[in-house]
Amino acid sequence: MKTPDAPAIVSPAAADPYRNPIGFDFKNTYARLPERFYARVAPTPVVDPHLIKVNVQLARNLGLDPDALASSQGVEILAGNRVAEGSEPLAMAYAGHQFGNFVPQLGDGRANLLGEVIGRDGVRYDIQLKGSGRTPFSRGGDGRAALGPVLREYIVSEAMAALGVPTARVLAAVMTGQQVMRETPQPGAVMTRVAASHLRVGTFQYFAARGDTEGTHILADYAIARHYPEAAQANQPYRALLDSVVARQAHLVAQWMLLGFIHGVMNTDNTSISGETIDYGPCAFMEAYEPNKVFSSIDQQGRYAYSNQPHAAHWNLVRLAESLLPLLNEEMGSEEAGLASAQESLAAFAPHFDTARAAGLRRKLGLTIEHEGDLALAEKLLDRMAANQADYTLTFRRLCDAVVGTEADTAIRALFADPSAYDSWADDWRKRLGNESVSAQERAVMMRRASPAFIPRNHLVQAAIEAAVDRQDFRSFEELLDVVSCPYEDRPALERYTTPARPEECVTATFCGT
Ligand code: AMP
Ligand code: MG
Repeated sequence: MKTPDAPAIVSPAAADPYRNPIGFDFKNTYARLPERFYARVAPTPVVDPHLIKVNVQLARNLGLDPDALASSQGVEILAGNRVAEGSEPLAMAYAGHQFGNFVPQLGDGRANLLGEVIGRDGVRYDIQLKGSGRTPFSRGGDGRAALGPVLREYIVSEAMAALGVPTARVLAAVMTGQQVMRETPQPGAVMTRVAASHLRVGTFQYFAARGDTEGTHILADYAIARHYPEAAQANQPYRALLDSVVARQAHLVAQWMLLGFIHGVMNTDNTSISGETIDYGPCAFMEAYEPNKVFSSIDQQGRYAYSNQPHAAHWNLVRLAESLLPLLNEEMGSEEAGLASAQESLAAFAPHFDTARAAGLRRKLGLTIEHEGDLALAEKLLDRMAANQADYTLTFRRLCDAVVGTEADTAIRALFADPSAYDSWADDWRKRLGNESVSAQERAVMMRRASPAFIPRNHLVQAAIEAAVDRQDFRSFEELLDVVSCPYEDRPALERYTTPARPEECVTATFCGT
């Protein structure tokens, strides 16, 4: 494996600047899988492509030249008007449970996998265009993406990456010069998405639903080789694969919970095998802490409410285990033993999640040693925050100051509808801190790494989107990207980005990315 500092390897393709101006050295391992895994389809050209932004740092991490990406030839590739040499574009097949209802065929209805590149970290990444036109999986859709949802995904996924949460990222966004019809006509955009892969729980369901055990085998072997190579050495490799996905998803959702993030559409087709956050549709970070908070306008039942997220993830993993049963049965020697293996694997979700969440809460409270009442102390704070509409992010961030001295209490009390709800909790907290051996300053440093100052607050995301969509003004978008890219640092000049929406600015719902 290459080290992060290793120089980019210049491929033969990169040496021909006309045919492959960006120097993409595409690998196409997915395109080597059997034909029934995808449909070969090229992006549909757009009328008038214009660059919005190239993610310079991400491009460099991938060994790509950001200036070449931003050049007119680069933009043609990013818009889908030209297929770079070495790319074998395709739309992936997958199925999925959407809000609990099984759809046997979904697939990339508006995305093209261009190929894979090996990043400077040695990891293989998918390069995918989203919003790049119709495919055989489009059903009734237009194959396009609107500018607003593209900018939302760019901002929120960059925030997640900077927060240290595994996530798909946006390498570039371009305007198409075409309108897309949504509730109202919207400017169209194409984004280039980078992910460790686009394998989903729904990809496994696709083959399982067809009784295609050979396909499931091939897919599982591919997932192991790409994401969990150590599973290949295990006595039961498919069990090891399931165990690994269960663990990664448990950690991922624990991180979401610790940051107050609501994904919004945790369907099985949006649940990645690599354990990354994918598909930023109606997602949001909570402001006032409210365990049952829902933002998505399509989630009427609250299926994907904040506090339901671990249950939803577990439910999705049960669907993965079901899809893998034929393989588990084979490696265990009987259906009974295969089922038991699946159940054992799934049972590990809760302990993985609980351990990750408890560790995170301990960091947020500045507790370096484990004590029995720690979790109860954290839950008590959360209960009081909920009862008093305290801002989730600010409360925890201000605790980083309060751990050093009581002067910061005033600012925290102000976040609670009834400030005394904080006072009595803080007494308990400070008693507990008395058992700690590390200095208050060290604790504060640890806490500031666990509780960000900056999240992409909804009203700011909304304002950035509106300025771009209504007035082609991308300044707020750029500013917000800058703000969320260093979430754990105090930046006094950016104070206004840390405060919750005023009542008239409040965004109560976010909408699906279509
Ligand atoms: P999503 O809500 O983005 O996770 O998409 C769910 C499914 O609907 C996937 O199969 C998408 O490819 C498909 N889809 C979403 N929007 C469109 C669109 N505008 N055109 C075609 N297919 C779409
Ligand atoms: Mg999706």
